[in-house]
Amino acid sequence: MSKRRLKGWKEIPMGGMVTEPGSSVEFDVSAWRTFKPVIDQSKCTKCGLCWIYCPEAAIVIKEDGRYEVDLTFCKGCGICERACAPRAITMVKEESA
Ligand code: SF4
Ligand code: SF4
Repeated sequence: MSKRRLKGWKEIPMGGMVTEPGSSVEFDVSAWRTFKPVIDQSKCTKCGLCWIYCPEAAIVIKEDGRYEVDLTFCKGCGICERACAPRAITMVKEESA
């Protein structure tokens, strides 16, 4: 769990607006998850749909062409699992894999 000090209500922008684009890379959201995606590389066809649909850009393409999940930015929403036609992605409970 992060020890980062959270801003008080007087310090955050009105309406909680995001005023710095791209600032999400500064936040580790791994503690938010209950489930995490696991990719079965033997079923992956490298279609790229998980990469396109992931709202957090947490799917990364390795130099050898493998698709992997950067769990620092994955919230565990499961959209990638739904997008994967060959069912290469399975959402598993955090503590089980
Ligand atoms: S959607 Fe599934 S098959 Fe396509 S790249 Fe992602 S894991 Fe591989
Ligand atoms: S579970 Fe959601 S946030 Fe995590 S990699 Fe899949 S689509 Fe992205």
